[in-house]
Amino acid sequence: MLAAMGEFDLIARYFTRQPQRALLGVGDDCALLQPRPGTQLAISCDMLVEGRHFFADVNPESLGHKALAVNLSDLAACGARPLAFTLALALPAVDESWLSGFSRGLFALADAHGCELIGGDTTQGPLNICITVFGETQGQALLRSGAQVGDDLYVSGQLGDAHLALQALLGKLTLPADLLAQARYRLERPEPRVALGLALRGLASAAMDVSDGLVGDIGHLLKASGVGATSQAAALAPLLGASAHPAWPGLKQQALDHVLAGGDDYELAFTAPASAGDALHRIGEQTGLRLSRIGCIEAEPGLRLRDAQGQALDVAARSFDHFRPAS
Ligand code: ADP
Ligand code: MG
Repeated sequence: MLAAMGEFDLIARYFTRQPQRALLGVGDDCALLQPRPGTQLAISCDMLVEGRHFFADVNPESLGHKALAVNLSDLAACGARPLAFTLALALPAVDESWLSGFSRGLFALADAHGCELIGGDTTQGPLNICITVFGETQGQALLRSGAQVGDDLYVSGQLGDAHLALQALLGKLTLPADLLAQARYRLERPEPRVALGLALRGLASAAMDVSDGLVGDIGHLLKASGVGATSQAAALAPLLGASAHPAWPGLKQQALDHVLAGGDDYELAFTAPASAGDALHRIGEQTGLRLSRIGCIEAEPGLRLRDAQGQALDVAARSFDHFRPAS
């Protein structure tokens, strides 16, 4: 229950739109989705908590974008086409300027992916945003568990910028203004790789999105597949984003750390047999994303990182875990 404007006025004003594909949207006790014959629903849920996942003063339009983006990223990782989402929202108070910015960012991304808001819950409380997305797969969902010995290991785009921005915003390092703006954009406006996920169906043997740091996330994929991998440090160079910028020599040594252990990247990591190489090249061109081959899948469990001399580098998983303090 929210006082002031009133819970139902707020829902009607900011979160109600005519359903397009759903049989029933906002307004009844349930929404109704009609799965097409031969399809499965792919479902994922992500919660964003103030102070934990975003700063209290973050631009509400960016927050609306990101709240949905992190969920669409999970659909992308499964090769699912976005259909609809629900929004559970706890708000400290009714702030109309915040609500209009938030809903603008949310719906801009939703519209770009044909994903409609079909329901939710609204309550008074510390700012908390929980979205559940529904997507569609056709028997070709990409899973974490399909990597095979001999497959190549790939990552899309660049990693580390979001983590770099977060460190700067926390005052732990200083960045030139233009570099901070670039990195901050990646932190606040991640672009879910939905088109890539769809294109990888039937081609990738396993996939996941990179949200908690490359080393930890790839560790999950390797474990789910019962395999391991070796990666050459040099192969990670194309993944460096702002942290490799020549204008900022301060970070050269740490750049790899940001790539390996940073979070909030929302790129896709996936495996594919060597025979998929040409098709992947075309997909990279079509999606405008660099697809970097960073290693190969082996039977020996775990992720190994080697330098140019073949020496093992320490990848002691510094991935993110909400209930374990960072090392
Ligand atoms: P109920 O009491 O049956 O759970 P509510 O009174 O909480 O339903 O909500 C009324 C309608 O508004 C429902 O259709 C619900 O899905 C929708 N709704 C509530 N909050 C939101 C929101 N933040 N975004 C979209 N729809 C919402
Ligand atoms: Mg009800």
